[in-house]
Amino acid sequence: MANIELQGLVKRYGKLDVVHGIDLTIADGEFVVFVGPSGCGKSTTLRMIAGLEDISGGTLRIGGEVVNEREPKQRNIAMVFQNYAIYPHMSVRQNIGFGLYTSKLSQVDKDKRIDETAQILGLTDYLARRPAALSGGQRQRVAIGRAMVRNPSAFLFDEPLSNLDAQLRTQMRIEIKRLHQRLGTTIVYVTHDQVEAMTMADRIVVMKDGHILQAGTPMDIYENPADVFTARFIGSPS
Ligand code: ADP
Ligand code: MG
Repeated sequence: MANIELQGLVKRYGKLDVVHGIDLTIADGEFVVFVGPSGCGKSTTLRMIAGLEDISGGTLRIGGEVVNEREPKQRNIAMVFQNYAIYPHMSVRQNIGFGLYTSKLSQVDKDKRIDETAQILGLTDYLARRPAALSGGQRQRVAIGRAMVRNPSAFLFDEPLSNLDAQLRTQMRIEIKRLHQRLGTTIVYVTHDQVEAMTMADRIVVMKDGHILQAGTPMDIYENPADVFTARFIGSPS
Protein backbone atom coordinates (compact mmCIF):
# COMPACT_ATOMS: atom_id res chain seq x y z
CA MET A 1 0.00 0.00 0.00
CA ALA A 2 1.11 3.55 -0.49
CA ASN A 3 0.13 7.05 0.24
CA ILE A 4 0.33 9.44 -2.68
CA GLU A 5 1.35 13.04 -2.16
CA LEU A 6 0.90 15.77 -4.74
CA GLN A 7 2.74 18.95 -3.87
CA GLY A 8 2.29 21.94 -6.16
CA LEU A 9 1.84 19.57 -9.09
CA VAL A 10 1.83 21.39 -12.45
CA LYS A 11 1.20 20.28 -16.03
CA ARG A 12 1.92 22.57 -18.93
CA TYR A 13 1.44 21.87 -22.62
CA GLY A 14 3.58 24.54 -24.26
CA LYS A 15 2.20 27.77 -22.86
CA LEU A 16 -1.04 26.19 -21.73
CA ASP A 17 -1.29 25.42 -18.01
CA VAL A 18 -3.76 22.59 -17.58
CA VAL A 19 -2.95 21.65 -13.98
CA HIS A 20 -2.02 24.64 -11.82
CA GLY A 21 -0.21 23.42 -8.74
CA ILE A 22 -2.31 20.81 -7.02
CA ASP A 23 -1.75 19.93 -3.36
CA LEU A 24 -3.30 16.70 -2.16
CA THR A 25 -2.33 13.88 0.18
CA ILE A 26 -4.02 10.56 -0.44
CA ALA A 27 -3.76 8.21 2.54
CA ASP A 28 -2.77 4.58 2.45
CA GLY A 29 -5.82 2.56 1.50
CA GLU A 30 -7.98 5.59 0.82
CA PHE A 31 -10.56 5.58 -2.00
CA VAL A 32 -10.43 9.04 -3.57
CA VAL A 33 -12.78 10.03 -6.38
CA PHE A 34 -12.00 12.94 -8.72
CA VAL A 35 -14.93 14.76 -10.30
CA GLY A 36 -15.26 17.99 -12.27
CA PRO A 37 -16.26 19.36 -15.66
CA SER A 38 -14.80 17.91 -18.83
CA GLY A 39 -11.33 19.33 -19.56
CA CYS A 40 -10.59 20.40 -15.96
CA GLY A 41 -7.47 18.22 -15.73
CA LYS A 42 -8.62 15.00 -14.05
CA SER A 43 -7.09 12.57 -16.55
CA THR A 44 -3.91 14.62 -16.79
CA THR A 45 -3.49 14.48 -13.02
CA LEU A 46 -4.05 10.72 -13.00
CA ARG A 47 -1.60 10.24 -15.85
CA MET A 48 1.07 12.22 -14.02
CA ILE A 49 0.60 9.97 -10.97
CA ALA A 50 0.87 6.91 -13.22
CA GLY A 51 3.97 8.27 -14.93
CA LEU A 52 2.32 8.45 -18.35
CA GLU A 53 2.81 12.24 -18.54
CA ASP A 54 5.88 14.25 -17.60
CA ILE A 55 5.41 16.47 -14.58
CA SER A 56 6.04 20.15 -15.43
CA GLY A 57 6.42 21.31 -11.84
CA GLY A 58 6.00 20.36 -8.21
CA THR A 59 6.67 17.09 -6.45
CA LEU A 60 4.99 13.71 -6.56
CA ARG A 61 5.70 11.25 -3.76
CA ILE A 62 4.55 7.66 -3.54
CA GLY A 63 5.15 5.88 -0.25
CA GLY A 64 7.24 8.87 0.84
CA GLU A 65 9.64 8.72 -2.10
CA VAL A 66 9.88 11.34 -4.82
CA VAL A 67 8.95 9.62 -8.08
CA ASN A 68 8.81 12.54 -10.54
CA GLU A 69 11.44 10.97 -12.77
CA ARG A 70 10.54 7.35 -12.20
CA GLU A 71 9.30 5.12 -15.03
CA PRO A 72 5.67 3.95 -14.79
CA LYS A 73 6.75 0.36 -14.17
CA GLN A 74 8.88 1.44 -11.21
CA ARG A 75 6.00 3.18 -9.46
CA ASN A 76 4.12 0.01 -8.53
CA ILE A 77 0.83 1.60 -9.55
CA ALA A 78 -1.75 0.11 -11.89
CA MET A 79 -3.94 2.13 -14.23
CA VAL A 80 -7.28 0.92 -15.61
CA PHE A 81 -8.73 2.89 -18.51
CA GLN A 82 -12.20 3.44 -19.88
CA ASN A 83 -11.35 1.65 -23.11
CA TYR A 84 -9.81 -1.33 -21.43
CA ALA A 85 -7.55 -3.03 -23.93
CA ILE A 86 -7.62 -6.77 -23.63
CA TYR A 87 -6.22 -8.90 -26.40
CA PRO A 88 -8.82 -10.83 -28.42
CA HIS A 89 -6.36 -13.49 -29.58
CA MET A 90 -5.23 -14.35 -26.04
CA SER A 91 -6.97 -16.46 -23.41
CA VAL A 92 -8.04 -14.95 -20.10
CA ARG A 93 -4.98 -16.57 -18.49
CA GLN A 94 -2.67 -14.99 -21.07
CA ASN A 95 -4.41 -11.62 -20.80
CA ILE A 96 -4.03 -11.52 -17.03
CA GLY A 97 -0.52 -12.93 -17.30
CA PHE A 98 0.41 -10.10 -19.65
CA GLY A 99 0.55 -7.90 -16.55
CA LEU A 100 3.60 -9.95 -15.50
CA TYR A 101 5.30 -9.65 -18.87
CA THR A 102 8.34 -7.86 -17.46
CA SER A 103 8.27 -9.63 -14.10
CA LYS A 104 11.25 -11.71 -12.99
CA LEU A 105 9.07 -14.27 -11.22
CA SER A 106 9.39 -17.91 -12.27
CA GLN A 107 6.63 -19.33 -14.46
CA VAL A 108 5.33 -21.36 -11.51
CA ASP A 109 5.04 -18.24 -9.36
CA LYS A 110 3.47 -16.32 -12.23
CA ASP A 111 0.85 -19.04 -12.64
CA LYS A 112 0.17 -18.94 -8.94
CA ARG A 113 -0.36 -15.19 -9.03
CA ILE A 114 -2.64 -15.50 -12.05
CA ASP A 115 -4.69 -18.18 -10.27
CA GLU A 116 -5.03 -16.05 -7.12
CA THR A 117 -6.05 -13.02 -9.16
CA ALA A 118 -8.62 -15.02 -11.14
CA GLN A 119 -10.00 -16.41 -7.93
CA ILE A 120 -10.49 -12.98 -6.34
CA LEU A 121 -12.20 -11.74 -9.50
CA GLY A 122 -14.37 -14.82 -10.01
CA LEU A 123 -12.63 -15.73 -13.27
CA THR A 124 -11.25 -19.15 -12.33
CA ASP A 125 -13.67 -21.02 -14.58
CA TYR A 126 -12.92 -18.75 -17.53
CA LEU A 127 -9.12 -18.84 -17.67
CA ALA A 128 -9.02 -20.85 -20.90
CA ARG A 129 -11.57 -18.70 -22.73
CA ARG A 130 -10.97 -15.97 -25.27
CA PRO A 131 -12.48 -12.53 -24.55
CA ALA A 132 -15.12 -13.01 -27.28
CA ALA A 133 -16.65 -15.77 -25.14
CA LEU A 134 -17.00 -13.49 -22.08
CA SER A 135 -19.66 -11.04 -20.92
CA GLY A 136 -18.87 -7.32 -20.75
CA GLY A 137 -18.44 -7.51 -16.98
CA GLN A 138 -16.09 -10.45 -17.23
CA ARG A 139 -13.99 -8.60 -19.80
CA GLN A 140 -13.78 -5.62 -17.50
CA ARG A 141 -12.63 -7.93 -14.72
CA VAL A 142 -9.92 -9.36 -16.98
CA ALA A 143 -8.64 -5.82 -17.52
CA ILE A 144 -8.62 -5.24 -13.77
CA GLY A 145 -6.95 -8.64 -13.32
CA ARG A 146 -4.12 -7.68 -15.60
CA ALA A 147 -3.49 -4.62 -13.44
CA MET A 148 -4.01 -6.50 -10.19
CA VAL A 149 -1.72 -9.43 -10.91
CA ARG A 150 1.34 -7.26 -10.32
CA ASN A 151 0.26 -6.57 -6.75
CA PRO A 152 0.25 -2.81 -7.20
CA SER A 153 0.28 -0.54 -4.18
CA ALA A 154 -2.40 1.64 -5.78
CA PHE A 155 -4.96 1.53 -8.57
CA LEU A 156 -5.83 4.45 -10.79
CA PHE A 157 -9.15 4.25 -12.63
CA ASP A 158 -10.07 6.72 -15.38
CA GLU A 159 -13.83 6.50 -15.96
CA PRO A 160 -13.61 2.71 -16.09
CA LEU A 161 -17.34 2.09 -16.30
CA SER A 162 -18.54 4.78 -18.67
CA ASN A 163 -18.79 2.45 -21.68
CA LEU A 164 -20.91 -0.11 -19.84
CA ASP A 165 -24.68 -0.33 -19.69
CA ALA A 166 -26.49 0.74 -16.52
CA GLN A 167 -26.93 -2.72 -15.04
CA LEU A 168 -23.32 -3.69 -15.56
CA ARG A 169 -22.19 -0.34 -14.18
CA THR A 170 -24.02 -1.02 -10.94
CA GLN A 171 -22.56 -4.52 -10.72
CA MET A 172 -18.98 -3.35 -11.41
CA ARG A 173 -19.31 -0.47 -8.96
CA ILE A 174 -20.09 -2.97 -6.23
CA GLU A 175 -17.30 -5.29 -7.36
CA ILE A 176 -14.65 -2.57 -7.37
CA LYS A 177 -15.78 -1.44 -3.94
CA ARG A 178 -15.59 -5.01 -2.68
CA LEU A 179 -12.14 -5.39 -4.21
CA HIS A 180 -11.06 -2.27 -2.37
CA GLN A 181 -12.37 -3.61 0.92
CA ARG A 182 -10.66 -6.93 0.34
CA LEU A 183 -7.26 -5.65 -0.83
CA GLY A 184 -7.16 -2.39 1.12
CA THR A 185 -5.27 -0.83 -1.78
CA THR A 186 -5.21 2.92 -2.37
CA ILE A 187 -7.57 3.86 -5.21
CA VAL A 188 -7.77 7.07 -7.21
CA TYR A 189 -10.86 7.03 -9.36
CA VAL A 190 -12.11 9.54 -11.95
CA THR A 191 -15.77 9.56 -12.85
CA HIS A 192 -18.55 11.77 -14.16
CA ASP A 193 -21.16 9.53 -12.53
CA GLN A 194 -22.73 11.05 -9.44
CA VAL A 195 -23.76 7.69 -7.98
CA GLU A 196 -20.23 6.28 -8.32
CA ALA A 197 -18.77 9.31 -6.58
CA MET A 198 -21.29 9.31 -3.73
CA THR A 199 -21.24 5.57 -3.07
CA MET A 200 -17.60 4.65 -3.65
CA ALA A 201 -15.56 7.55 -2.31
CA ASP A 202 -14.00 7.92 1.10
CA ARG A 203 -13.25 11.40 -0.16
CA ILE A 204 -14.37 13.34 -3.22
CA VAL A 205 -11.98 15.81 -4.87
CA VAL A 206 -13.72 18.40 -7.05
CA MET A 207 -11.50 19.88 -9.77
CA LYS A 208 -12.19 22.98 -11.81
CA ASP A 209 -9.94 24.67 -14.40
CA GLY A 210 -6.84 22.78 -13.26
CA HIS A 211 -7.36 23.51 -9.56
CA ILE A 212 -8.81 21.61 -6.66
CA LEU A 213 -11.98 23.50 -5.86
CA GLN A 214 -12.85 21.43 -2.82
CA ALA A 215 -12.23 18.07 -1.19
CA GLY A 216 -14.25 16.26 1.44
CA THR A 217 -16.41 13.29 2.29
CA PRO A 218 -19.42 12.73 0.03
CA MET A 219 -21.59 14.12 2.82
CA ASP A 220 -19.40 17.26 3.20
CA ILE A 221 -19.64 17.96 -0.51
CA TYR A 222 -23.36 17.25 -0.60
CA GLU A 223 -24.04 19.60 2.28
CA ASN A 224 -21.62 22.37 1.27
CA PRO A 225 -21.00 22.29 -2.48
CA ALA A 226 -18.54 25.04 -3.41
CA ASP A 227 -20.18 25.97 -6.68
CA VAL A 228 -23.21 25.45 -8.89
CA PHE A 229 -21.56 22.72 -10.98
CA THR A 230 -20.80 20.69 -7.88
CA ALA A 231 -24.27 21.25 -6.40
CA ARG A 232 -25.91 20.07 -9.62
CA PHE A 233 -23.50 17.17 -10.00
CA ILE A 234 -23.98 15.91 -6.45
CA GLY A 235 -27.68 16.71 -6.43
CA SER A 236 -27.54 18.97 -3.38
CA PRO A 237 -30.78 20.68 -2.40
CA SER A 238 -30.78 24.30 -3.69
P1 ADP B 1 -10.47 15.82 -17.99
O1 ADP B 1 -9.96 14.44 -17.83
O2 ADP B 1 -10.78 16.50 -16.70
O3 ADP B 1 -11.66 15.89 -18.91
P2 ADP B 1 -7.91 16.33 -19.25
O4 ADP B 1 -6.95 16.12 -18.15
O5 ADP B 1 -8.06 15.25 -20.25
O6 ADP B 1 -9.34 16.73 -18.66
O7 ADP B 1 -7.51 17.64 -20.04
C1 ADP B 1 -7.22 18.86 -19.38
C2 ADP B 1 -6.87 19.91 -20.41
O8 ADP B 1 -5.63 19.59 -21.00
C3 ADP B 1 -7.87 20.03 -21.55
O9 ADP B 1 -8.03 21.37 -21.86
C4 ADP B 1 -7.20 19.30 -22.67
O10 ADP B 1 -7.61 19.80 -23.92
C5 ADP B 1 -5.74 19.57 -22.41
N1 ADP B 1 -4.87 18.50 -22.93
C6 ADP B 1 -4.91 17.19 -22.57
N2 ADP B 1 -3.95 16.49 -23.22
C7 ADP B 1 -3.29 17.36 -24.01
C8 ADP B 1 -2.18 17.28 -24.92
N3 ADP B 1 -1.57 16.11 -25.14
N4 ADP B 1 -1.79 18.40 -25.53
C9 ADP B 1 -2.38 19.59 -25.30
N5 ADP B 1 -3.41 19.76 -24.45
C10 ADP B 1 -3.87 18.66 -23.82
MG1 MG C 1 -10.63 12.61 -18.68
